[in-house]
Amino acid sequence: EKFLEIFEKLGKKELIAKKLIGSNEYEGELGEIINPYTKEVTTKYVKCSVEDAKEALNVAKAAFENTKKSPLSQRIAWINDVADKLEERKEEFAKFITLEVAKPISQAKVEVQRCIENLRICAAEGYHILGETIPTDATPSGAKTTSFYKRVPAGVVVAITPFNFPLNLVAHKIAPALIAGNSVVLKPTPEAPYTAYAFAKLFIDSEYAIKDALSVVYGDADVGSTLVTSSIPRVISFTGSVPVGKIITQNAGIKKVALELGGNAATFVESTADLDWAAQRCAIGAFANSGQVCISLQRIYVDEKIYDEFAEKLGKESSKLKVGNPFEEDTFMGPLINEDAAIRAENWIKSAVKEGARIIAGGKREGNILEPTILADVTDDMKIVCEEVFAPIVSLVKVKSYEEALEKMNNSPYGLQYSMFSNRIDLMQKAIDDFEAGGVIINDIPTLRFDIQPYGGVKLSGIGREGPRYAIEEMTEIKTIIIR
Ligand code: NAD
Repeated sequence: EKFLEIFEKLGKKELIAKKLIGSNEYEGELGEIINPYTKEVTTKYVKCSVEDAKEALNVAKAAFENTKKSPLSQRIAWINDVADKLEERKEEFAKFITLEVAKPISQAKVEVQRCIENLRICAAEGYHILGETIPTDATPSGAKTTSFYKRVPAGVVVAITPFNFPLNLVAHKIAPALIAGNSVVLKPTPEAPYTAYAFAKLFIDSEYAIKDALSVVYGDADVGSTLVTSSIPRVISFTGSVPVGKIITQNAGIKKVALELGGNAATFVESTADLDWAAQRCAIGAFANSGQVCISLQRIYVDEKIYDEFAEKLGKESSKLKVGNPFEEDTFMGPLINEDAAIRAENWIKSAVKEGARIIAGGKREGNILEPTILADVTDDMKIVCEEVFAPIVSLVKVKSYEEALEKMNNSPYGLQYSMFSNRIDLMQKAIDDFEAGGVIINDIPTLRFDIQPYGGVKLSGIGREGPRYAIEEMTEIKTIIIR
C-alpha cells in the first residue's frame, strides 16, 4: 500500500530515467488503475505524452554510447542483483500483480518466482554471447584470410508488453536487451504500470546499473506508436494481440521487429492417453488466469472412442476449481481484466449454443467473472474455435482419427503451441513433425512454457523467439570481421 501511495505522488517526469527522482509535479493526463475484482481505483498515475516518449528515446540513444562499452561482467552482476532484490520482495510483487490485474495470488506468486529464475537464466546466458570462426579460405580468393563474427548490441530496444503477465513478460524483454549491451525504452501495459514501475526501479536503483540505460514510459497506443515509428530504435520487441502486431509491422519501417502475438492453442486427446492426467491438466490449461494466457488451451480434439468419458472427467476437474476473490490463496480463477472482455466472451458462448454447441459446465457470467466453461459438440466453423477466445472457455470437438485431429488443429491462422496426450510412440513422432506451431508438447497441455525454452509462434502468432538466449540473438547484430 505504501508503494502505491508513492506511485501516486510521482510525476511523470520521474518515470523517465533521466529525471528519475526529483519533481513531484503533476502534469498531463491521469490514468487509473482499477482492480478488476473490487472495481475500485487502486491508484492513479500520470500518463506520459508523445513528447515524453521522444525524450525517453533520446535519453536511450545517448545511453547506448555507454551501455555498448560497458563490461559484460557488470551487466551479468546487474541482472543477478535484480534477481536477488526481487527475491527479497517477492510477496510484495505478487500483491502488485493481483492488485492491478486480479491474477489469483497463488498464480501471481508463481509469476514472480518464474521471473526470478528467468533473470538468473538470463544472467548466466551472458557467459555465452558467442561468435564463430568463418573459413573464408574455403575459396581460393580467400587465401590468407582469417575471419570470425562476434555478436554486438543492436542499439536502442523498444519493449512493449501486455497485461496478462505484467512482470515476467517485461523481464523477458528488458533483461536480455540489457545484458546484451543495449539501452531500453519500456512501454508497459496501461493496465499494470505499477508492477512495471516497481520492477524497473530494481534495475535503475541497482549498484551495477548503467545510467539511463532503462527508461519507462506509461501510456496508450499513441505513446507506443511514437516509439515504434521513431528512427532511433533498432529493435521493437512486442508482446500483445494480433491486431496491434499488424499495426506495428506496418509502422516500424526498417528495423528488427520481434512479435509474440496471440494464439489458439489446441490439444488432441488420443484413445491410449491417460485420461485422468489429461483431464486434470486440461482444466488447468484452459482456466488458469481465466484463460487470459496466449497459450491458453482453447480447443480439445478428442477421439470418439473416449469422448464421453473424457468430457465427464474434464467437467469433474473443472468443478473443483475455486472461482472468486483473487486475493484468497485457494482461488484458482478470478475475474477477466474488465467487463467488456467478459461480455464479449459470453456472447461468443451464446452464439456457439445457437449454432448447436452444448454447455457441459459453466456458461454463466456475473460482472466480469465468467464461470469456467466447457462446450461440447462444437463444430469447426464456430467463432469459439476459430478466433482467440482469451477467456475461460474450452471447446470439445469429437474426431475419428489422428489425421482428422491434425487437419482441424492446423486449420487455424495461429500457431503458438499445440499438444497431444497419447501413449503411442508412432503418433508422438508424427505430431512432432506435423503440428504447425512454434512448440509441440507431448503428454501435457500446450499451455506449458519454461522460461529457458525458445518460445514463439508461426503464422499469425508472431515472428522471432523469446527465452533469454533467443531474445539475446534477436537483440544483437552479427558483425563479421575479416583480416587479410
Ligand atoms: P494489446 O495488443 O491490446 O496491448 C499490448 C501492448 O501494446 C500494450 O502495452 C498497449 O498499450 C500497446 N499498444 C496498443 N496499440 C499500440 C500501437 N498502435 N502501437 C504500439 N503499441 C500499442 O494486448 P493485451 O490485451 O495487453 O494482451 C493480450 C494479447 O497479448 C493476447 O492476444 C495474447 O495472446 C497476447 N499475448 C501473447 C504472448 C506471447 O508470448 N505470444 C504472451 C502474452 C500475451
